[in-house]
Amino acid sequence: MKTIEHWIGGTFTAGTSTRRGRVLDPARGEQTGDVLLATSQDVDEAVRTARVAAAGWAETSTSRRTKVLFSFREIVNARAEEIARVITAEHGKVLSDALGEVQRGLEVVEFACGIPQLLKGEYSDQVSTDVDLFAFRQPLGVVAGITPFNFPAMVPMWMFPIAIACGNAFVLKPSERDPSTSNLLAEMWKEAGLPDGVFNVVHGDKEAVDALLDHPDVAAISFVGSTPIAKYIHERGTANGKRIQALGGAKNHAIVLPDADLDFATDHLTAAAFGSAGERCMAISATVAVGGAGDRLVEVLDAKARAIKVGPGLDPASEMGPVVTAEARDRIVGFIGSGEEQGAKVTVDGRDLVVPGHENGFFVGPTVIDQVGTDMDVYTNEIFGPVLSVLRADTVDEAIALINANPYGNGTAVFTNDGGAARRFMRGVQVGMIGINVPVPVPMAFYSFGGWKDSLFGDRHIHGPEGVSFYTRGKVVTARWPHIGGSAGASLDMPTAQ
Ligand code: NAD
Repeated sequence: MKTIEHWIGGTFTAGTSTRRGRVLDPARGEQTGDVLLATSQDVDEAVRTARVAAAGWAETSTSRRTKVLFSFREIVNARAEEIARVITAEHGKVLSDALGEVQRGLEVVEFACGIPQLLKGEYSDQVSTDVDLFAFRQPLGVVAGITPFNFPAMVPMWMFPIAIACGNAFVLKPSERDPSTSNLLAEMWKEAGLPDGVFNVVHGDKEAVDALLDHPDVAAISFVGSTPIAKYIHERGTANGKRIQALGGAKNHAIVLPDADLDFATDHLTAAAFGSAGERCMAISATVAVGGAGDRLVEVLDAKARAIKVGPGLDPASEMGPVVTAEARDRIVGFIGSGEEQGAKVTVDGRDLVVPGHENGFFVGPTVIDQVGTDMDVYTNEIFGPVLSVLRADTVDEAIALINANPYGNGTAVFTNDGGAARRFMRGVQVGMIGINVPVPVPMAFYSFGGWKDSLFGDRHIHGPEGVSFYTRGKVVTARWPHIGGSAGASLDMPTAQ
């Protein structure tokens, strides 16, 4: 059984950890490794190493930094399948989906390759006589990322390519449930020529997270995970004077209008609800059928949900893999039961699914629950599993009001052929990312990703231009080069332009 160590200063280290976490193969329900859980001393070692490296890296020219990024891009691209296999082994998602997440992460690296352009400042000539004014941005120093289990490559890659391109050193604290991907990416950074100490990985749990939140040399933290932890990270981090962006959980609704192409809508809804076993922060977990769309929608959805092939992620025939742990499976199964008890109708039931040859795997089949009410536990909680709830609304405005009453605001979508209704929806929902006939509207890397309300704490979205802004701070310089023999022209009054 392998032991997964930290990566500090360009090398693996066991640090001072004595506690360990279990790493599992969700398709078999078996332990495959142990991950070391960092002490605050280990975190301090990583941050001090990063601080030394950050000083040199910030002085490295943007063209040299760009060369390292291009190199990293080539390595990740060439070894994408190897990364995907590591993801599938510990997360459980099917290999093609794991490859998709590597691809989405690569897009952020490609965006960050344009860092010289992205960091271009502003210059105003002769704002006063012989005076020029200019603005530029500088890195923060040591920044950290704390990431969830569900995208072990993509979510860290939303953060570190941009942070590093901007001239910071990075300390990553990935999920302890699927930690190996981060170590593989760390080795790839080294191969790409990144100086040791600019990218570090500390594995761990709350102890490591708290040590990062309290460390005086960590200037900023990007967090992605569940809402209660996001809120905690934001509160404790900002209380310690850090810049924080903390992305939380979600309950993403898709509304289906009666004029929508039902076949198209149900194909996409099925993919959005059950892809990655529903363990995506942008998964559609609630569908709102508007007007008379409901009964026929459920009928078609049910047939498509039943047709999904569930199996181990490494089997090319599988379309959906297991969920991440036995606890996750039990929690999901519990919510399906509570929906039934509270009066909803389970029209497709994934609770008793058994995958032959993988009887101990953490499988739950695609599940559709109709007649869900907004007061039911199945609706008020983020289930984070392959469960699609169906609700009904009489009008588009009623559907918009229902979405706006939900505390989350990550993503949402509308299926319709009516441009006017789509526009009203797009403008009216209090949600950060909106799809029009696109159910998983994850923006491309050159835009920023982020939700509203309980889906994001902090004022900056992740990656894209807001990522560059998050990982840098601005300076504005007012400059004058006096002529020899010119008049001093100084006065004790407040300086004004002349
Ligand atoms: P999680 O909140 O349990 O864990 C996220 C990170 O926080 C991990 O690194 C974990 O070690 C750490 N952590 C957990 N408990 C902690 C505690 N008590 N104190 C300090 N740190 C702690 O989330 P998860 O289960 O790994 O991931 C699933 C969640 O992430 C879902 O809620 C999902 O919606 C959310 N998510 C959101 C986005 C987004 O973009 N908004 C993207 C992906 C996942």
